[in-house]
Amino acid sequence: MTTSSFVRDLMAELKAKNPMEPEFHQAVQEVVESLDLVLERRPEYRSARIIERMVEPERVVMFRVPWQDDHGQVQINRGFRVEMNSAIGPYKGGLRFHPSVHIGTLKFLAFEQVFKNSLTTLPLGGGKGGSDFDPKGKSDLEVMRFCQAFMSELFRHIGPNTDVPAGDIGVGGREIGYLFGQYKRLRNEFTGVLTGKGLNWGGSLIRPEATGYGAVYLAGEMLATRNESLADKVCLVSGSGNVAQYTVEKLIQLGAKAVTLSDSDGYIYDEAGIDADKLQFVMELKNERRGRIREYADKYKGVVYTANDARLDYSAIWNYPAQCAFPSATQNEINAKDAANLLKNGVYVVSEGANMPTVLDGVRQFVDAKILYAPGKAANAGGVAVSGLEMSQNSMRMCWTREEVDERLRGIMRAIHRNCRETAHTFGTPDNYVNGANICGFLKVADAMMDQGLV
Ligand code: NAP
Repeated sequence: MTTSSFVRDLMAELKAKNPMEPEFHQAVQEVVESLDLVLERRPEYRSARIIERMVEPERVVMFRVPWQDDHGQVQINRGFRVEMNSAIGPYKGGLRFHPSVHIGTLKFLAFEQVFKNSLTTLPLGGGKGGSDFDPKGKSDLEVMRFCQAFMSELFRHIGPNTDVPAGDIGVGGREIGYLFGQYKRLRNEFTGVLTGKGLNWGGSLIRPEATGYGAVYLAGEMLATRNESLADKVCLVSGSGNVAQYTVEKLIQLGAKAVTLSDSDGYIYDEAGIDADKLQFVMELKNERRGRIREYADKYKGVVYTANDARLDYSAIWNYPAQCAFPSATQNEINAKDAANLLKNGVYVVSEGANMPTVLDGVRQFVDAKILYAPGKAANAGGVAVSGLEMSQNSMRMCWTREEVDERLRGIMRAIHRNCRETAHTFGTPDNYVNGANICGFLKVADAMMDQGLV
């Protein structure tokens, strides 16, 4: 990949203006390298400075979140909402509660979200928010008090036609419930202001499953271009939260064999494969008891648990023979050495359930090796797509069946795959899903920005 002077200058200015935000730099770098191909053909985007405008959030809100723990002590966290781009619809994107959250993390996620939401074919702008609050080890009451305090400020900035948050790392059904309850109390209105809601208060069937199922559907679409399917494929899956759980569920349904899961302490390798009963155990362990993945190896024979080893310059989870990988934990979990190990061990399908799980050097290795590599903004778009469907159902005050939502999700993932492929081909880089996703996501937003003038 050659880097033009436009990309070099843009990145230099971005880094100077946004220091200490390496993840944001990385996310922008990956996109603008693809967009170089567009600027050659569409110089009007250059003169309108569309890309320079897209890397600047429309609005960033940062606020204090004071709350009381179970011992009566005052705790203070920091809350954020990054409203990145509303050219094609209301801001839409999840909330992340994790101690590592800072403004740079959320800007990278919000930036990715703009392209991802555009790819879904639905009218959704891009945003992201969250807090450095750590739900791990907190009681339900502490989580509730935190969520209420967080929403006591956030409610001013969001609304069903303005900005519609959802879940992300550390924000699942429990947190969405507490956040929604507080929004409803403060506004005195019952609206679809959050997605990922409970089924009997405005949620959509298949929303919990959507991101994981979508990443598997996309892998299936990619394999179909080589007349192959997921049946009997050995799959490495990281994480053990929402995305990882439903990735494994769909893989089991399609006859593939998932052999790994992880959390931030370590990972399990189950050579026999994770079956439906074992997955049920993981769901109960993670969603109800909120335990650690180590317990899987205590319960099932022949399973190896390996704790993370900070002295290693690679992650051992990516060093097993397999055909497919579904990174579903967090950003930059696949470094350059991991990418090389995956390729060496025979992996030729990578579908990213997590956002930006692969470092830039790893992305380049996958693209150069011409494997079937779907970047997060295409592969994990199923989650926000079904959030979009949840918004539609809320507006119409109706509920679609499980089959209906799943069929729409499948259709959207098929369309994302087709559009990425066609765009990559049109711009002279066939089979390059990175260029396909970045360019296809960009064009719709850029054209809307051109139409709407300098705002
Ligand atoms: P989740 O339910 O909170 O699960 C996250 C999983 O990743 C947990 O197993 C967690 O382990 C692990 N993890 C988190 N941070 C980690 C770190 N720094 N190092 C190692 N492991 C870490 O979250 P999720 O919703 O599944 O999200 C996973 C990924 O998918 C994220 O990149 C998210 O942005 C992306 N994503 C999610 C959705 C969605 O609909 N939920 C949609 C699109 C993309 P611990 O429990 O030990 O922290």
